[in-house]
Amino acid sequence: MPFELRHVNVYLVRDGAGFTLIDTGLKTDESRQALEAHLAELEVPLKRIRRILITHIHPDHFGLAAELRQRSGAELVIHRLEVALMEPRYARAEDLVHDVAAWLSKNGVPSKEAEFIKSASMAAREFVSVAEPDTLLEGAERLPTEGGALIATWTPGHSPGHCCFYWPERRVLFSGDHLLPKISPNIGLHPQSGADPLTDYLGSLDRIRRLEVSLVLPAHGEPFADHRSRIDSIVQHHRQRKDSLVALAAEGPQTGWELAGRLFKGVMERNVFQQRLALQETLAHCQSLAQEGRLGKQVREGLVRWGAA
Ligand SMILES: [Zn+2]
Ligand SMILES: [Zn+2]
Repeated sequence: MPFELRHVNVYLVRDGAGFTLIDTGLKTDESRQALEAHLAELEVPLKRIRRILITHIHPDHFGLAAELRQRSGAELVIHRLEVALMEPRYARAEDLVHDVAAWLSKNGVPSKEAEFIKSASMAAREFVSVAEPDTLLEGAERLPTEGGALIATWTPGHSPGHCCFYWPERRVLFSGDHLLPKISPNIGLHPQSGADPLTDYLGSLDRIRRLEVSLVLPAHGEPFADHRSRIDSIVQHHRQRKDSLVALAAEGPQTGWELAGRLFKGVMERNVFQQRLALQETLAHCQSLAQEGRLGKQVREGLVRWGAA
């Protein structure tokens, strides 16, 4: 991928005479060629892919879905909460930019920065074609394969309809972006997120924690074992970040933009993508803290400020 994160992993699961593909990669020539080369190596023609499971609709996971479905005739399967995000995100992005502009100003972003940040997501559109799914998931569905069912495990947080796919017979978890070996996935409050995504995310980690897993196959990075200790360190990371925000907000009510600047010193200067992610991430923590009663959320004259509870 032409991003800071260089690779996305997609997985192929044998299913009788056919195969199930989990995620697709970006809609770029490089990504398409890499996928085709690996399939050729495995002697799997596209026509034998019968089903495509999508963990969530971010471009690196969903980008090639429309094209692959068209070329293979595979059934496209996605959680229903992701479907509602597709149109505004990729087909009617101009409307979304308008919503994002209002959201930026409400959270204290100065108009000069807001001008750059609001368009930062538009670039993602070129890496995706929107595809109507054939089958919608809600969570807990058992999807049969030759080696036992894959269980669609709804894990909202990183995205509202994110799904992991759990394979109990093999004690394998296809974790998408929900659980990654090195980085903690971006959990952000923004116009397309859930209303309290960090609380959702921590709840989803708890759901995964209870599963018997010997091997996690993540969407980014190398496969890993011991999912529970990885979950513990991610939970710890969010706990510390929450404590830092409570301490900062104790100095007096501040906007999300002001708090992000202090919480993510250094990161904010890098580029508009980082600024946007830092703001979303800060707000997700503030919202979770406010829901718990540990921060006060003031809305006055079109501005949201976070202060002591
Ligand atoms: Zn993602
Ligand atoms: Zn990803």
